Amino acid sequence: MAALAAVTVLTLAVSTSAGTGRLTARTTAGPVGLARSSALSPCFLRGGLDVQMTEGLPTPTGYSHSTGTVHALTLMVDFSDAPGQGSALDRFHEFFPQTQEWFRTASYGRLDYRPETPIPTWLRMPKPFKAYGIERGAPFDPGYRELVQDIVAAADPDVDFRSYDLLNVLVTPNAGPSALDTVLSVTFAGNSDAPVADGVPISNASFVYSRQDDGSGSYARTGYRVLPHENGHTFGLPDLYTQEGGGAVGHWDIMSEDWGANNDLLGWHKWKLGWLDGTQVGCAGARGSVEYTLTPLYKAGGGKLVLVPVDSRSVYALELRAPGGNDEDVCEPGILIYRVDSTVDTGRGPITVFDGHRDSGGCTRSPNVHAELSDAPFSVGQTFKDPRHRITIQVLSGTPGGAYRVRITRG
Ligand SMILES: [Zn+2]
Repeated sequence: MAALAAVTVLTLAVSTSAGTGRLTARTTAGPVGLARSSALSPCFLRGGLDVQMTEGLPTPTGYSHSTGTVHALTLMVDFSDAPGQGSALDRFHEFFPQTQEWFRTASYGRLDYRPETPIPTWLRMPKPFKAYGIERGAPFDPGYRELVQDIVAAADPDVDFRSYDLLNVLVTPNAGPSALDTVLSVTFAGNSDAPVADGVPISNASFVYSRQDDGSGSYARTGYRVLPHENGHTFGLPDLYTQEGGGAVGHWDIMSEDWGANNDLLGWHKWKLGWLDGTQVGCAGARGSVEYTLTPLYKAGGGKLVLVPVDSRSVYALELRAPGGNDEDVCEPGILIYRVDSTVDTGRGPITVFDGHRDSGGCTRSPNVHAELSDAPFSVGQTFKDPRHRITIQVLSGTPGGAYRVRITRG
């Protein structure tokens, strides 16, 4: 199992400096409709200046919009030294319709994700796979630039690139190493320097290789989850896993762990993507005590996220996690508490979950789920304290499957 745990150090975000280009000119970049009001402004973290992909708000321009209809051009690509086995549409169906359903559920219906396959067959690249020099962590230049240019040239007769918000490249699984050995899947997001097709740069492109099949027999049900992770980058979300794997956030966000049982996004990410109303987000910025009611994050409606500003760069965030919807593996329901730091870059731990049951070993038995943090939510009666910033968070009450009441006190 140690080997499988190592596998959860997964896909990699490569973001170039945020530019203004995007895959299609008719969409608006960033989270359209991000709930903001004067009451929420103390909790509005600005993005760090030297950060490639920030947790700050609003998401810089150049990424795909994350509400309304998103048209995802999806191409299945093969090579002479790795010819597609089976039909290209079979490869497509490893990811769909699950990916669009995942986004519909996670966004409470606010993201209407439309995968489109104008070329339903394998698109053969002019060079063998080996010639592109694609390996884990490969930079955009020269390998990926060449690959994107070749994809554009091969697809252009049948594709109007202006019609799409992002590009999915589903590579034939026999190209490159097994995902058990090396995960090559990668996204180039907000890349205004990308090759241009039909007058628009291919700024947001996700590449999926191999199969994230851990041999547990769950691939058909959960193997698609690499794609919502990669597409999360095209919406501007950073990686939450670090060199130590999922130890910072565990299985509480698909940007942390995308192998194994289904999981949702953190409430912070849902707010950042424009999927929560202002009335669903609380900001405890003033001195004194204030109470909030939270409903399970997976379900639509009700209070979802309480933020407690710590300093100008970070906030505490609270949400109620319970099993249901995309959160299929939650084994200890309760109030998840985490810190968001907008100055920490992708893959370096911009978000840290606090473990309400430390050194317990966790409650999950699922493979590819960071076990220790699986029971991280704080239970009724538990208190989180930050004496330095004079912040106290109490979980007052809660019912199974129902709402929880929390109290924030600032000294
Ligand atoms: Zn990633």
